[in-house]
Amino acid sequence: MTTSVEDEQRWISETLERLSHSQFRDKFQLADKDRVYARAKGKATIDRHAREMLRDRVGAAEPKNDGRQTPWRGHPVFTAQHATATCCRGCIEKWHHIPKGRELTDDEVNRLADLVMAWIERDLVNHPARWFVKS
Ligand SMILES: [Zn+2]
Repeated sequence: MTTSVEDEQRWISETLERLSHSQFRDKFQLADKDRVYARAKGKATIDRHAREMLRDRVGAAEPKNDGRQTPWRGHPVFTAQHATATCCRGCIEKWHHIPKGRELTDDEVNRLADLVMAWIERDLVNHPARWFVKS
């Protein structure tokens, strides 16, 4: 994994581009409810959630229920994890080349959280807030 901000930005755009070629990953989008929630909580809070949730759910060497620990919906970060292949250690190994069986470093958690946040941000930009939203 690389260190500079430019490198990370490049890694994020290349990874989002790579994910867009997967029919499975590409079909995810946030539910209206999640968009309303994300906007109401604000970026700093969702960003904190992303880091906490990745650390808690995929950070350990052998996460609990690995492969099934990430619900499909219920929080914007959950949906974003499936879309960015950060949902379980199998997907993280396959897509992001971080081996299973060892704890994620802080750098790795932060980088994957940045990817999740970039995906959420892109979804929000592509779906501007409307006056009336069913939730
Ligand atoms: Zn997975």
